Amino acid sequence: MCQWDGCDKTAVHRAPVGRNAEGEYFMFCFEHVKEYNKGYNYFSGLSDTEIARYQKEAVTGHRPTWTVGVNKSARNGPTQSQMRSGTAGAQARMRDPFGFFNEARARQARHEPRLRKLKTLEAKAFETLGLAASATTADIKAAYKELVKKHHPDANGGDRGSEDRFRAVIQAYQLLKQAGFC
Ligand SMILES: [Zn+2]
Repeated sequence: MCQWDGCDKTAVHRAPVGRNAEGEYFMFCFEHVKEYNKGYNYFSGLSDTEIARYQKEAVTGHRPTWTVGVNKSARNGPTQSQMRSGTAGAQARMRDPFGFFNEARARQARHEPRLRKLKTLEAKAFETLGLAASATTADIKAAYKELVKKHHPDANGGDRGSEDRFRAVIQAYQLLKQAGFC
């Protein structure tokens, strides 16, 4: 079944989870793999540093409570350049030869579900709602309410553009809700 929120179509396409999760895939239906790839490509024009900064903000910006009692390296994980040079991996292997506990513990510390690499989609959803990544639950709900009202087809005489925006807003909100942001 398609892993997109609220979709129950048959999943027929694999989509890579992300650059730090090689070999992991989401399963989506045709429509949603297209939607996902749009979000995925959102970062294609950015440098690694910019992507790393964005991802870090996505992790540390949304939920300050995650960081309580977690040390800095576990919270942030290796940087992109560390990943590339392999120094972070070498350090991790010394403490944990198979690399299992390290990642599991880091995940637990962040209170994240196993498949957490929805960050490009989440970033896109925040953008759709006109919010910064640091937006609170109340911000998200308020923006959603306002935009749904503004773009509702009934309020726009069936205008095609606002209908598209209306649907995008609902989809963005559902995604953030499922991801636990609101
Ligand atoms: Zn789907």
